[in-house]
Amino acid sequence: MSIRINEDRCIGCGRCTEACPGNLILLQDGAAGRKAKIREVRDCWGCTACMKECPVS
Ligand code: SF4
Ligand code: SF4
Repeated sequence: MSIRINEDRCIGCGRCTEACPGNLILLQDGAAGRKAKIREVRDCWGCTACMKECPVS
């Protein structure tokens, strides 16, 4: 299982990047602003720590 980040909803707060025990999420600046991005989807083991921290679910 892997998470999927909804870039339309992400506000770039960075909480998920701190929550991930595997340090799998980074913040990336783009045209739509700062968004979370998962480094390698296959590395995610679905612990959901990032989802619990995300203010926009
Ligand atoms: S589900 Fe767990 S392992 Fe996967 S990105 Fe979120 S915090 Fe990291
Ligand atoms: S916690 Fe949610 S809103 Fe904050 S950077 Fe991560 S995905 Fe975006």
